[in-house]
Amino acid sequence: MVPKHCFSENSLMIGRFQPLHNGHMEVIRKCAAESEKLTIGIGSAQYSHECDNPFTAGERYLMIDEVMKDEGIANYCIVPIEDLNRYSLWVAQVESLSPPFSRVYSNNPLTRRLFSEAGYELRDSPLYNREIYSGTAVRKKMTEGEGWRPLVPGKAAEVIDYIDGVRRLREITGGE
Ligand code: ATP
Ligand code: MG
Repeated sequence: MVPKHCFSENSLMIGRFQPLHNGHMEVIRKCAAESEKLTIGIGSAQYSHECDNPFTAGERYLMIDEVMKDEGIANYCIVPIEDLNRYSLWVAQVESLSPPFSRVYSNNPLTRRLFSEAGYELRDSPLYNREIYSGTAVRKKMTEGEGWRPLVPGKAAEVIDYIDGVRRLREITGGE
């Protein structure tokens, strides 16, 4: 068994990535640079084809993986995580799916509380240009036929095009 302290430089960051945008990538780049290994958790993994969750976990996985490859970042793994809707068990659920980690990057108060109660080191992850870079803002632009491409990494846009994601979102929201 590898001693636990060997994983003290491993980190976790969780998002829904509906879709992956430039704000997410600012955090991911910083976390990966500060960590031995970064687990990127895809939250609410079971949802897709909904207005707020248009993309499947596999499609979100592909967006992240393609962008990381494109940026030459290699010290990461991606883990889809379904919602349990039972907060007291959520940390255990994440632990059971991720390689060991000891640091969590989050600005979400509930995530911070749950992981700090479980003894993890919490680090802040500042929000970059939140008015522009949010999943909600990207989906709104997609739905309304406005320019969404500058808000997401190029390779994520390629995946969205490949799966015809904008048309899906517009059909789901009744915009087409
Ligand atoms: P949505 O509007 O769909 O909820 P979101 O932009 O809030 O999307 P999520 O996929 O919900 O993004 O992921 C949430 C995590 O992503 C946050 O905990 C935060 O750490 C990070 N994040 C989101 N937007 C930014 C941003 N602009 N800058 C830095 N981090 C961000
Ligand atoms: Mg969010």
